[in-house]
Amino acid sequence: MAERFDAVVVGAGPAGSAAALALAKEKFSVLLVERGRTAGSKNMFGGRVYAWPLFDLLPEWQKDCPVERFVTRESLAFLSGDASLSVQFENPASTSGRAASFTALRPKFDEWLAKKAEAAGATLITGIKVDELLREGGKVRGVVAGPDKIAANVVVLAEGAMGPLAQKAGLLPELAPKAVSVGVKETVELPAATIQERFALGEKEGAAVVYAGDASMGLRGGGFLYTNKASVSLGLVVSSEDLARKKVEVQEVMERFRLHPSIQRLLKGGKVGEYSAHLVPELGLGMRAKYIADGVLLAGDAAGFLINNGYTFRGVDLAIASGIAAARAAVDARARGDFSAAGLASYDRHLRALNVLTDLERFRSTGGYLKNERLFSLYPKLLLGITEKVYTVDGSGKERISDVVLQEMKGKAPLFKMLKDFLDAARSM
Ligand SMILES: Cc1cc2nc3c(=O)[nH]c(=O)nc-3n(C[C@H](O)[C@H](O)[C@H](O)COP(=O)(O)OP(=O)(O)OC[C@H]3O[C@@H](n4cnc5c(N)ncnc54)[C@H](O)[C@@H]3O)c2cc1C
Repeated sequence: MAERFDAVVVGAGPAGSAAALALAKEKFSVLLVERGRTAGSKNMFGGRVYAWPLFDLLPEWQKDCPVERFVTRESLAFLSGDASLSVQFENPASTSGRAASFTALRPKFDEWLAKKAEAAGATLITGIKVDELLREGGKVRGVVAGPDKIAANVVVLAEGAMGPLAQKAGLLPELAPKAVSVGVKETVELPAATIQERFALGEKEGAAVVYAGDASMGLRGGGFLYTNKASVSLGLVVSSEDLARKKVEVQEVMERFRLHPSIQRLLKGGKVGEYSAHLVPELGLGMRAKYIADGVLLAGDAAGFLINNGYTFRGVDLAIASGIAAARAAVDARARGDFSAAGLASYDRHLRALNVLTDLERFRSTGGYLKNERLFSLYPKLLLGITEKVYTVDGSGKERISDVVLQEMKGKAPLFKMLKDFLDAARSM
């Protein structure tokens, strides 16, 4: 045994760094192991962090957190052909307080959070991959990294989506293609002044746009756009099942999305920077991992703590909150001197207190609802068709809106199905 720590945390993403920081604050000796050259160097996401758990973890986070822009404008845009229809919500006051959210770049944000964990006393090692969980009589007792065996009372597995270590340890079932989406993102560099002018934003203000319909070529999924200080993050999350079934490459979908006139206008003159892809587990709580076992807790994406309900995409805030909850459970286990599954059982209560499990449970059916193909092809087309007719005045005789709606709906899908979709939407959202 090379070394011994009170806790080993695998992965310096938001979940792992939050857990290591919270544990170090509670005077645990903590080893935080990250396989990337630096924390965040291997990580990508769309671009927005809901800030609320940072207030619990680091009350003064705003002092030096690498915020790109505070999101003050939300839009939902439907694309069909060359047309687009968007709904916008603007709130310039949403730059502070627990309801604030901000855009960020993962290499900077993850490194910042990992450094906070280090400053609180955690030992961070990067460029090292944990290969195995160290087991004794079925119980997790530490980790194995290369030739080193590191013992710990508790291991927090925060290795991200797919959780290969968790799968190996039998804590996470192998994920079927239908439980996984593919995320792609590119950043397009533009001068800060151009972004502010083009998106009508103040210096620190940012925009978040969710795209539906032709954004994903009618496949189940959608697009996103976030404004950073001097770049725009543009990307897609698309069902991997649909990509395989329709024999389409995700790059092709991205190319088509980028070429939509409403996107081209926003990105004109920009220089395409990094392009990355990542898997997104879309499991919901029903198919979830065993996130508490003897000597081990799963946090963040590794535990499937992610909510994508079509209008908000929440992974980072749930990852941070679950890291905090894992640390609180470890503190309870230490007080009892019992790091077995029973000793760590308060993780569940702490996850509930931070509304991680409650929110996941509330939106449990949304994942299933978002599997309905009509939401991504038929309805955006219908909406755009109606809008086009409503706003067209060409002297050929104008119809009432109700007639336009009925005409557009005719023959597209049985009325009872549309009504059912509407009721299901109300229930799941
Ligand atoms: C395209 C896309 C867009 C997204 N957009 C958003 C968004 O806008 N807002 C949002 O909140 N969420 C978003 N998400 C989800 C979000 O990225 C995740 O929920 C979040 O990153 C989960 O954090 P985590 O710490 O659990 O895992 P990760 O961020 O994946 O971190 C895991 C870490 O563990 C390390 N690691 C893995 N295995 C090992 C090992 N064996 N040894 C050592 N280190 C290891 C990895 O290198 C990594 O640093 C998006 C995801 C995708 C793919």
